[in-house]
Amino acid sequence: MLVILMGPPGAGKGTQAERVTREFNLLHISTGDILRSAVKDETSLGKKAKEYMDRGALVPDEIVIGMIRERLAKPDCAGGVLLDGFPRTVEQAEALEHVLKDLQLKNDAVINVDVAADELLSRLTGRRVCRNCSSTYHIKFNPPRVRNICDHCSGELYQRSDDTVETVKERLDVYSRQTLPLIEFYQRKNLYHAVDGARAIDEVFADISAHLQKTKG
Ligand code: ADP
Ligand code: AMP
Repeated sequence: MLVILMGPPGAGKGTQAERVTREFNLLHISTGDILRSAVKDETSLGKKAKEYMDRGALVPDEIVIGMIRERLAKPDCAGGVLLDGFPRTVEQAEALEHVLKDLQLKNDAVINVDVAADELLSRLTGRRVCRNCSSTYHIKFNPPRVRNICDHCSGELYQRSDDTVETVKERLDVYSRQTLPLIEFYQRKNLYHAVDGARAIDEVFADISAHLQKTKG
């Protein structure tokens, strides 16, 4: 199974991905997580990506496409994959089709988690992430049991440097200009399914699960 989870920054892709991958036994591949790890390790990829990420811009297509091509070719993807944060442009979506064809994989579903912009701002500025396992929390909407400590691995929580009001506004703008056209792209391929992401985490999860159960048949 290959599932794409899309939606604006802060819609809850990472939050849902954690649950969906557990339930359906899929591998969670987040291009944001891969890039942040490269930035932290100061690899050549990380050095190139950092300047774009810091200002809320998309990392150039050729870099991200190469990265995902390499990642999807690894044997651990054979059991099924959930893509979170990729593709983000029509060019990336077209490249993904070629990559999947080469690897003899099929795109089963594209789920868009839909949330209005004003809600996204408060979700992102209150987000906290585990330094160790990348689990996501929110200071008000989804707090950890112990302040600043991850429920799953006891890692320390931190605030992403791009979750400031100014950078979030830029990221939302980039989403509208560069990623929104993907909705039509996948609608035309009859793969697109939207869920209302403005509800409680468990309700959104129930909707996504129901759709994936149906897709699995
Ligand atoms: P994305 O991966 O789409 O950028 P996240 O999953 O990191 O989004 O969620 C963004 C923030 O919103 C996090 O702080 C998360 O805890 C919170 N969040 C996620 N889903 C919901 C929801 N349904 N209701 C309220 N807050 C949510
Ligand atoms: P995310 O963790 O998905 O919010 O992504 C954080 C940042 O990583 C984005 O603002 C981009 O700079 C970069 N990024 C993640 N995924 C992609 C992608 N598919 N294409 C381009 N840039 C990306």
